[in-house]
Amino acid sequence: MIITITDNDVEKIDILSLTFDELAVQIERMGEKSFRTKQIFDWLHVKKVTSFDLMTNLSAQLRERLEEKFWLKSLFISKRLDSLADNTVKYLYKLSDGTHIESVLMEYDYGNTICVSTQVGCKMGCKFCASTIAGFVRNLRPGEILQQIYTASADSGRKISSVVLMGIGEPLDNFDNVVEFLRLLNDPRGFGMSLRHVTLSTCGIVPKIYQLAQLDLGLTLTVSLHAADDKTRSEIMPINKAYSIEKLMKACRSYFDKTSRRVSFEYALINSHNDSISDAKKLAKLLEGFPCHINIIPVNSIKECDFVSDRKSAQRFKRYLSDLGINATVRRTLGTDIEAACGQLRREYEMK
Ligand code: SAH
Repeated sequence: MIITITDNDVEKIDILSLTFDELAVQIERMGEKSFRTKQIFDWLHVKKVTSFDLMTNLSAQLRERLEEKFWLKSLFISKRLDSLADNTVKYLYKLSDGTHIESVLMEYDYGNTICVSTQVGCKMGCKFCASTIAGFVRNLRPGEILQQIYTASADSGRKISSVVLMGIGEPLDNFDNVVEFLRLLNDPRGFGMSLRHVTLSTCGIVPKIYQLAQLDLGLTLTVSLHAADDKTRSEIMPINKAYSIEKLMKACRSYFDKTSRRVSFEYALINSHNDSISDAKKLAKLLEGFPCHINIIPVNSIKECDFVSDRKSAQRFKRYLSDLGINATVRRTLGTDIEAACGQLRREYEMK
């Protein structure tokens, strides 16, 4: 995707947001041989350098021309928090325009997973979510989403084997940039991650779920459900007023039919809002017979709202469901000592 950025009054092309073919066109226009594209793409996405100066197999003159034409600013690590409880690392990144986003690197038995942001802030207005309270600023560019992974990987020295789009922002509200990011992440000439190792989480923008299904990218779709009736869901998630649970479930079924990929549902448990046995019955009825996975998460309390929960309630809700024949897991909570739930750190930072 060609995105221009003004840097000291000069318009430059964001090089990290260009696909291989788009870069090839630019390099050809510069009158350079085509093998240069492969070299440059490799520097950017395999060796992950953050400056043209480091591209040592290119002549000094070419590096200078690249610098004039393209924009390649790295993310700046504003703050890094290391969990003492597990190996979770949380990054607060500063972007070139001074705004902030967060990424969280988590260690599981099967490898390292990174949770990345897709927007600076969020418009969706979910009542329990810190990302939305600090307000929406702008969409992230494909290159900025990629750089969260590259920077965390370089800084931590860890190999990253999966990506979840569950950080700040609503990925389907930044659809084109997110899809472009996924294509770049997947390119075997670059980072080369299989999209089977990617999970995209949405609050439920129904038309975009259909659009995503059409692309059949092979990723896992996770839907933040959090309630099984429209009244309760609309109270905590304004998006439900635009797309009811019925419309959402229809889109999820269509996603499964088109892609054969099981959909996951997130259910943030909130004491005396959605954690009763009757809530479990509604949920079981809603998902009956649909091949899916349910993840129960005790809501993470944030300052601005009085929602609370705990692991005990989550285990109890899980039991209610299993008595109704529905399997669910209670999500392991990582990095609780470093406020690893996305949005909390940015919120704190913006308040200051
Ligand atoms: N906008 C997307 C992805 C970002 S939020 C979405 O809504 O899915 C990632 C997940 O964290 C979502 O399931 C969201 O509902 C959940 N979440 C946000 N704030 C939370 C909190 N305080 N406690 C528990 N889960 C939370």
